[in-house]
Amino acid sequence: MPQADPLDLQTSRYARQMRFAPLGVEGQRKLLESTALVVGCGALGSVIANTLARAGVGQLRIVDRDFLELNNLQRQVLYDEDDVAAGLPKAIAAKNRLARINSTVEMDAVVADVDHTNIERLLAGANCLIDGTDNFETRFLLNDAAVKLGVPWIYGGCLGAEGQTLTILPGETPCLRCLMPDPPPPGSSPTCDSAGILGTVISVIASIEANEALKILSGHREAISRTWTVLDLWDNTLRQIKLDQARSADCPCCGRGEYPWLSGERGSHTAVLCGRNSVQLSFPGREAVSLDQLADKLSAVGQVSRNKYLVRAAIGDYQVTVFPDGRAVIGGTEDIAEARSVYAKYVGN
Ligand SMILES: [Zn+2]
Repeated sequence: MPQADPLDLQTSRYARQMRFAPLGVEGQRKLLESTALVVGCGALGSVIANTLARAGVGQLRIVDRDFLELNNLQRQVLYDEDDVAAGLPKAIAAKNRLARINSTVEMDAVVADVDHTNIERLLAGANCLIDGTDNFETRFLLNDAAVKLGVPWIYGGCLGAEGQTLTILPGETPCLRCLMPDPPPPGSSPTCDSAGILGTVISVIASIEANEALKILSGHREAISRTWTVLDLWDNTLRQIKLDQARSADCPCCGRGEYPWLSGERGSHTAVLCGRNSVQLSFPGREAVSLDQLADKLSAVGQVSRNKYLVRAAIGDYQVTVFPDGRAVIGGTEDIAEARSVYAKYVGN
């Protein structure tokens, strides 16, 4: 398709957006020259990447470790039944689809498990990082990396009909660790796979995230939200928590410059258990797991057995065994990324 001048108010595909005065032609020019990193291209990431590609962000880097499954289609709007049948990785299916929507965006699809060994490379050159992940381990890693490299990032999370989002401008607004010194203990909170998720709340939170990214990338940091937004579409509640006093000079991350998730000191350690078709994940320094609570949660998704030493759940082709220190053995795969994905889905955080 021949491309018109993207900044021509008559012919550009971005004409309606440029007519929105606060963005304007100048804002669009900046968008076209910008690079965004979207980590996770499931439900939130689908909406975020879709919005940013259509809006004309110049370079879009999409990273995801997962493959498509039928139960993704309820909320992961970039994908269709053909993608599921083809068993495509989400990052690849997303790139294919987005290239048909806006072929002028330079797209980089990375099929990878984001961890401390690759995040700085993925983030290099990005003007903004947008969270489409499903777990706090990755978010604490993203926070470390974004604060260290001074890249604005936007946190978003959803569960059930509730969602929350927060924009972090390193050095200017509170970072994730100012508000939450440590991630919740493994298995302590519900996940989308155990407690369910509505597609509607995903669209709302992901749209707010993408909107914040558009402000940052178009040079309008003054317009970003300075509150922690928490909403529930079922109970019809919206809370906007002011963060004026929340930035802490004592914050280990943005105050003292310690980045334990980025150094690999915190976060999960993994090992393939040879000959057992299993991967072990361990979490040094994390709080203890409540096996009772976890057994309850897992019983929603699989066949659970437990004793005082462990909880075990058979979930589809996987056998998930969790010990009180949070260590887990994921049976049914020798693929570390797949095991981490199963852990994030069913045990959580
Ligand atoms: Zn902080």
